[in-house]
Amino acid sequence: MNDNKMKRRDFLKAGGISAIAVSTGINSDGVQAQETQNEMPMLASQISRRAPLPPAKGPRVVVVGGGWSGLTMAKYLKRNYRAFDVVLVEKKAGFVSCPLSNLWLADQVNLEFLSHSYCEAAGNNDYLFFNATVIGTDRESRKIFTDEGFVEYHYLVLAPGIDYDYARIGVEDPAQVQMLQNFYPAGFKGISEILAIKHKLNTFEGGDFLMTVPSGNYRCMAAPYERACMAAAIFKKRGIKARIHLLDMNPGIRIKSDGFTRAWDTFYSDIIHYESSVEVSSIDPAARRLETVFDQYEFDDAIIYPPIRASRLIESLDLHDPISPQKEAHIHPFKYHIIDDEHVYVTGDSRSQPFSKSGNTANSEAKYVAELIAAHAQGRDINWRSPQTMCFSGVTIDPVESMSIISSYRFDEEEQRFQFTRVHPIEEWSTTSGQAGFAWAEGMFKDMFYT
Ligand SMILES: Cc1cc2nc3c(=O)[nH]c(=O)nc-3n(C[C@H](O)[C@H](O)[C@H](O)COP(=O)(O)OP(=O)(O)OC[C@H]3O[C@@H](n4cnc5c(N)ncnc54)[C@H](O)[C@@H]3O)c2cc1C
Repeated sequence: MNDNKMKRRDFLKAGGISAIAVSTGINSDGVQAQETQNEMPMLASQISRRAPLPPAKGPRVVVVGGGWSGLTMAKYLKRNYRAFDVVLVEKKAGFVSCPLSNLWLADQVNLEFLSHSYCEAAGNNDYLFFNATVIGTDRESRKIFTDEGFVEYHYLVLAPGIDYDYARIGVEDPAQVQMLQNFYPAGFKGISEILAIKHKLNTFEGGDFLMTVPSGNYRCMAAPYERACMAAAIFKKRGIKARIHLLDMNPGIRIKSDGFTRAWDTFYSDIIHYESSVEVSSIDPAARRLETVFDQYEFDDAIIYPPIRASRLIESLDLHDPISPQKEAHIHPFKYHIIDDEHVYVTGDSRSQPFSKSGNTANSEAKYVAELIAAHAQGRDINWRSPQTMCFSGVTIDPVESMSIISSYRFDEEEQRFQFTRVHPIEEWSTTSGQAGFAWAEGMFKDMFYT
């Protein structure tokens, strides 16, 4: 350990600060951070410098992450308690929706429909948008540290989403992880990955195209199966000879199973080859080879969706549940606050409850948690409300025909776990459902960005 590292750690420890890259040596992408001589002055200034924000006009609530959860949270905190001074901290400058991006791959919707402005969301809903990256917290003095300085909070809500966990498919070498991320991105985190996927689907010249479905509670249960439909529809439209090998790490299709099976048989029987219970043991991106316990697949191109985990921010801040395999937050299952801290909450896809990791779930859950925090600030309590999961899956294009599902959750006292309830799947695809999917997204964007 070099001297700089030593001093920095001691400095942070003395202040009781939990921080990314600082206490762990791991950066936000999970790659070992480079130690440099001039790191220390920069970190010290981030810790001692106040962020350039106006003074709080009321109890300040800092919301970290401007995704489906954080955007809804920021708006509804203010709606529920006007006295709150709300700051949304987001590291990206603009928002591009992941939901409906599968349809964008096949040109069924344009990028403008998916893109929205944080400035507009904040202006319309009376909160501050702070474009910065959170790197640490000090829960004792109620501060968060960003690359633009620190912010004091009365309540902190963390909604930083997910990260990929390539180690769970046998890829641990950072160089190989980088290669997979750059050449065979999963497309479940952001626009760069999805742009790369669109490009590859529209330029693929034919051959073996590999796609994976991860095990565990991955983001958007139906999306990898829907994406296989869109990829097949693109290949069919382009008239190329391609075989999609859809390798599922689960024992079977996780959702809308009858519908997807029928859709593949009806429209894409010569393109989509589905295999279940695939145990991926390693991938060699340079050789374009994926190995399972029993088999090996050579591919011409691929979309590799690895298992996921809660955002590394949660673990870096030491807020994860030690027994959670996906390193999700250690929160109260009904109240969402960190077990020993009623001023720090975690929502969205970093939560530990087994709810579907979806945008509609994050949106409906954030409305409940915003009301809960507002009640807490006023010395009240409210009853638990289930989030609602709603998901449309396109199976054809020109025009889009979709299936859908809607469900809620209940807590089973006997088994001491959450279960699905009021599940309404519609596994007959139709253009009406396709249109309903667009209307759903429009309603969600209106809810998160406009008044
Ligand atoms: C292809 C695809 C299709 C999908 N289809 C559907 C669908 O049809 N229906 C549906 O309901 N859901 C769908 N989803 C799932 C949905 O997108 C996610 O479940 C939802 O975005 C989760 O919301 P979140 O706020 O928890 O995370 P996110 O939306 O990922 O937001 C997290 C935010 O936190 C920010 N952040 C992270 N770390 C920091 C930091 N240190 N400092 C500052 N900011 C930080 C990130 O930049 C990001 O903006 C789909 C997802 C994909 C990828």
